Amino acid sequence: MNIVILLGAPGSGKGTIASNLAAENTNLKHVSSGDLLRGAVAKGTAAGVEAKAYMEKGSLVPDALIAEMIKDVIAETEGDVTMLLDGFPRNVAQAEILEKTQAPIKSVVLVDVPDEIIAERISGRRSCPECKAGYHVKALPPKVEGVCDKCGAALVIRKDDNPDTVKDRLVVYHNETEPLIAFYEAKGLLKRIDGNQEPQKNAEAFKAAM
Ligand code: AMP
Repeated sequence: MNIVILLGAPGSGKGTIASNLAAENTNLKHVSSGDLLRGAVAKGTAAGVEAKAYMEKGSLVPDALIAEMIKDVIAETEGDVTMLLDGFPRNVAQAEILEKTQAPIKSVVLVDVPDEIIAERISGRRSCPECKAGYHVKALPPKVEGVCDKCGAALVIRKDDNPDTVKDRLVVYHNETEPLIAFYEAKGLLKRIDGNQEPQKNAEAFKAAM
């Protein structure tokens, strides 16, 4: 098992890239920290109950809470698998926790998208609460409006995708997550791709970089 980390702002398209690639290659496993947390909130586990208020505000949940979930997924992932780790680490403390697991990091790919584009991307974002597939009303519409192509569930707008919370999430990204760019650059692991392209092109650029 090895890990490719996807770095990028909320709405940069990292989740779409990772889920599409994992769907076409069984050796790739998409692990989204946001999906793990939303799953815990939906189930009402102790971690989910704790995480909910942070997530609704757009702030980060406590490092230990999400790190325990990620460590569990790493522990249960074996064999010839590349984990596409999306949304974790989100700050330097989490990157250090990840290093302690000694799971090998193959590369870190920064999906670069300007802030102005992010707001437009997120405002059209729709997600499948069942299979986690992501859509966009203009850039990546489902075949039938409001219905997931993959599993038929009704698509939803995430609670934290409202414009005010998006602004807060971008501030969190710049303050807490962006320092990871220098952190991984110093280790010689960082690659950058232009995330402001068609979904198919983004996926190709990512594949070449990872
Ligand atoms: P995402 O789906 O990656 O945009 O994450 C949605 C929300 O889940 C974030 O705004 C945070 O509140 C929380 N979250 C996801 N990943 C992490 C993480 N690695 N550390 C702390 N909070 C996280």
